[in-house]
Amino acid sequence: MSAIELPESEMPDAELVQAARAAAEQSYSPYSRFAVGAALRFADGSVVTGTNIENASYGLALCAETVAVAKAMAEGVRGGLEAVAVVGPTADPITPCGRCRQVLNELAQLGGTDPVVLCVGAEEVRSIPLSVLLPHAFGPASLG
Ligand SMILES: [Zn+2]
Repeated sequence: MSAIELPESEMPDAELVQAARAAAEQSYSPYSRFAVGAALRFADGSVVTGTNIENASYGLALCAETVAVAKAMAEGVRGGLEAVAVVGPTADPITPCGRCRQVLNELAQLGGTDPVVLCVGAEEVRSIPLSVLLPHAFGPASLG
């Protein structure tokens, strides 16, 4: 599978994208002013959101996707990740950074899923399977 580009009017999961947009409004990004929101949808229909959280010690910043996965796992979620939406402030869609791809992969592999990642910009959405964003991933199964 590969990336599919869609205009926002044909977005496949508008509610999930809206949840990510709402999360971005809570962004704590006073240094970069680059607000990001993420929303995870699970097989039971539940949605967990996250936003980026920066720190005066810049290197300690947390990405929205990592915050969302941490929230879900802290609540006991260990699988069933079906879809992820990531919303940034730019016209072009943003994609998860490398660290977040790995963090998302951990949760996806625990549940045996390959979630679609909706990368959302102001004017375009890209729908990309996580396995395409992170091919040949290292995960729980890699440790035997
Ligand atoms: Zn990240």
